[in-house]
Amino acid sequence: MIRLEYHSPEEQVTIPLANDQGQALWVKRDDLIHPFISGNKWRKLKYLLQKAKDQDKRHMVTFGGAWSNHLLATACAGAKFGFKTTGLVRGEEVRNPLLQVCALFGMELIFVSREAYRDKATLFEARYEADEQAFFIDEGGASAEGVQGCAELVDELEQEYDHIFCACGTGTTAAGILKGLQKQNAKTLFHAIPVLKNGSFMQAEIDQWFDIAPGYALHTDYHFGGYAKTTQKLLSYMQEIAAATGLLTDPIYTAKVFAAVKDLAEKGFFNQGEKILVIHTGGLFGLLGKLDEFKLPAGYML
Ligand SMILES: *Cc1c(COP(=O)(O)O)cnc(C)c1O
Repeated sequence: MIRLEYHSPEEQVTIPLANDQGQALWVKRDDLIHPFISGNKWRKLKYLLQKAKDQDKRHMVTFGGAWSNHLLATACAGAKFGFKTTGLVRGEEVRNPLLQVCALFGMELIFVSREAYRDKATLFEARYEADEQAFFIDEGGASAEGVQGCAELVDELEQEYDHIFCACGTGTTAAGILKGLQKQNAKTLFHAIPVLKNGSFMQAEIDQWFDIAPGYALHTDYHFGGYAKTTQKLLSYMQEIAAATGLLTDPIYTAKVFAAVKDLAEKGFFNQGEKILVIHTGGLFGLLGKLDEFKLPAGYML
């Protein structure tokens, strides 16, 4: 069995709003699951690793951008559970702390052109046809097994919420949480926050995992310029959240979710007494790529 003991409590925090009031909410601390097999990436990998093991595959081959939390999670999980790992990285060769740590965990990194990267199945076939040990894991861990793993998050919840918010990249985590809510017949309204521009495509990405698509709210206006893009406003809100709550967010995913909750709260979206849960999907390594963009207090460099 592939097992990881972890702790992901629900914590109550109050996030700052522009009107000097605060919005109380709960945070599901999936960022505490593991420092490198972080957040939803553990949930998505869990049954994939099990499947690979059951099929006697010892070599994980997966895909991601140069700042992919999924690559890092796969690299660490591979080392921990006895798999060789290869990461096919989108774009020209670069060096950054995330990839360097992947390499520390023994992951082989291969940079592939954006064009070749688009067709991952073909790329895998071409390179690993002769490798009987090779096991394909899609970008971000997107898979039925990933959905299954993410659904378990809902079973862990200590109370029922009126609203649950989660960032969406591939939509796998969102689909899993919706499955979990469906199973429990929960009255919770799920809010999907795509972190990419023109996020309405996320609906099809989420709905593909269902025979009958569930209801949920899809907010496409909180991408802050697009995937891995950010604004000074978002960065300063991250600073505010960190200082007010002790929670670190990352500018690619979770900061955008907190910003969405803030904006909706300021617009009066929530009713008095409603319980709101934000899923902290982890991925704090993303912060390392943006640290220089924060306006830190004067005197910090002394
Ligand atoms: C990968 C990632 C997501 C996106 O998850 P999907 O299942 O691909 O939608 C969200 N948050 C963080 C921190 C991530 O690293």
